[in-house]
Amino acid sequence: MVKRRPAAARHRARPPAANDLFRGVGTEDALDQRIDGRPENRSPTACHANNMPNLFDIVTKRLLEAWRSDEAGDRRQGYRCRCGRPVYFLNSVCLACGAELGFQPELREVHALEPVANGDRRRLDDPALDDREWRRCANLATAAGCNWLVAAEETTPFCISCRLNRTIPDLTDPENGELWRKIENAKRRVVAQLLRLGLPVKSKVNEDVEHGIMFDFLRSPPGAPRVLTGHDQGLITLNVEEADDPTREQIRKEMREPYRTLLGHFRHEIGHYYWDRLIAETAWLDKFRELFGDEREDYAAALQRNYEQGPPPDWPDRHITSYASVHPWEDWAETWAHYLHVVDSLDTALRFGLRGEDVEAAVEPFSIDDLYDPAADDAQQVILLVNSWLQLTTVLNELARSMGQHDFYPFVMSRPVLRKMHFIQMVVKDARENSADRARAAPPAAATAAASG
Ligand SMILES: [Zn+2]
Ligand SMILES: [Zn+2]
Ligand SMILES: [Zn+2]
Repeated sequence: MVKRRPAAARHRARPPAANDLFRGVGTEDALDQRIDGRPENRSPTACHANNMPNLFDIVTKRLLEAWRSDEAGDRRQGYRCRCGRPVYFLNSVCLACGAELGFQPELREVHALEPVANGDRRRLDDPALDDREWRRCANLATAAGCNWLVAAEETTPFCISCRLNRTIPDLTDPENGELWRKIENAKRRVVAQLLRLGLPVKSKVNEDVEHGIMFDFLRSPPGAPRVLTGHDQGLITLNVEEADDPTREQIRKEMREPYRTLLGHFRHEIGHYYWDRLIAETAWLDKFRELFGDEREDYAAALQRNYEQGPPPDWPDRHITSYASVHPWEDWAETWAHYLHVVDSLDTALRFGLRGEDVEAAVEPFSIDDLYDPAADDAQQVILLVNSWLQLTTVLNELARSMGQHDFYPFVMSRPVLRKMHFIQMVVKDARENSADRARAAPPAAATAAASG
């Protein structure tokens, strides 16, 4: 819940730069209501899942608190060990006090753990928060070093993220272990974000063979064609070479890309998967075509044209990257990846206490009329998010240049791209709310019908 301050104090607290962020945003009280996610008319019987804060709501709520806060204290909201030291998403042990740490996938947070009397069971050290028993993921002991927890009653030894793997690299080759570790670190970050956004994440290997996700991490065999990174009906293939920094940098240069990372690959490929799940054969398809173009355009011919002629010169007016101009499917996947980049990076910035006053920069903010649907319920949140992102990245790019590094965010977000990002936000929100509806539906048959409708 946003702590309400007297209106005068709020206005005084907000710096001039922040004022611009609210251009066209409407009354602050209306914004409070929206971001608290508790509209007056919500039924008291509404399913718990529907009220669970999702990543988008958490980030925009924190943004609002950060822009408004005039207190210097208690700004750091990163994960903390029981000893008080900050801990990070990938930590499995506290470096200060030696406590075991684990990522609890339902709370989606790293917590200190206590051993339960015997064997491999663990509990969070805060039983008021969660008093169930957990095991560590079997991949903690492997090169992947996975710090996630598996509910004690589950039959699989692997966590939600690791059970998505169908093929991992051959670990008898010592080099593969190091590459695989980088791959799993990036993958867990993406999976955690998908869970926090309330999106479905089930393993195609053993949980949902028809609609799930699975990964093949492959090396190109000597003398054979190169393994291609891509997506096909829930199977995401990643060429393990992409985890090798010099190799990936070489490819980035050849492809003239400003940005190429493992995280970016995962976010892009999973975007194709969610297009199949959330757009194909849904009510969103016609709207998708209006905004991104007709995906029935010959895909192979589009790739060939891009290979021979390069992107159209005016691609920055319509797309976030030049590759997005190849085909509507690639435009969707690139824009989807950007949506995930923005929400995750802002979330991290806010966890570490970066706030409005720290980030004054001359940027021309977007207004609500620039959105895909200015009348959408969450239009105010989206504008707050995007304008905060523009300010933050302006500063981070300057910081990177001060260190002689590549820009932190080497992209320009045009108005058409903002419209596409807002469309994606609406699709994600719809998916989350529909899955909560399905969870409420009593007979399994009804849930199945809704899922395929
Ligand atoms: Zn500690
Ligand atoms: Zn795991
Ligand atoms: Zn793609």
